[in-house]
Amino acid sequence: MLMTSGNGQPVSLIQCQDLWKVYRLGDVEVQALRGLNLTIEQGEFVAIMGSSGSGKSTLMNMLGCLDQPSKGHYWLNGVDVAALRADELAEIRNRQIGFVFQSFNLIPRTSALENAQLPLFYRGLPLREQRTLAAAALERVGLKGREQHYPTQLSGGQQQRVAIARALVTTPSLLLADEPTGNLDTESSREIMTILDRLNKEEGITIILVTHEPDIAAYAAREIVIKDGQVLTDRHTKPEHPSSLVGR
Ligand code: ADP
Ligand code: MG
Repeated sequence: MLMTSGNGQPVSLIQCQDLWKVYRLGDVEVQALRGLNLTIEQGEFVAIMGSSGSGKSTLMNMLGCLDQPSKGHYWLNGVDVAALRADELAEIRNRQIGFVFQSFNLIPRTSALENAQLPLFYRGLPLREQRTLAAAALERVGLKGREQHYPTQLSGGQQQRVAIARALVTTPSLLLADEPTGNLDTESSREIMTILDRLNKEEGITIILVTHEPDIAAYAAREIVIKDGQVLTDRHTKPEHPSSLVGR
């Protein structure tokens, strides 16, 4: 099913309508998302906040096509994700979406370059091309010269930058980051956020970030608070088009 706007306007990047996710563990049922509604446009930089257990990671997994809703709709670029087969979901993940997690999830005893190459390896790209693109992605996150370092030879902030390079190497239009600075010190967190900010402003990549820290959320232009699997508050925290203020 394709979502159409009806008035000729382009469809939103993300549109969630009455989204539910229910986990069943034996007799216990957890309603992680409870009729959540949300629209995000291409090019936005959104911070998602909310207390532990409020459903943030569940929502991110849903938005990233890692999981499918129990009920309701999620349209990504106008495509109804609930109607897709597993291989179609995998294709969307590989083509359109990059993920960054709190725990970096790098492969140990494997160089930064090889870690960044991984999505291209799965895509079956020639090795030379994998290496060229991975090296370029590492350069974009300021890791030129660190290509042959293993994760244990890199700081936490550098490891997270490798993870960002790995997410970027497939040129996704949507980057999902679930508490990307959760394991980092203040200075490394600032570096990571500066990179995400640049990717959003200069390359137009849509970024959705989960964080507990107001200082980190402040980098985004929109702040959404989730509570009990629903949107509690949703506000723009920066002017949407700063250039429109010029000359006033
Ligand atoms: P947050 O990321 O905001 O801390 P989560 O989305 O991880 O919250 O979890 C929301 C609720 O769903 C919690 O009550 C959690 O225990 C439950 N939950 C999350 N993942 C699973 C799962 N795979 N199986 C069962 N329950 C889960
Ligand atoms: Mg979480």
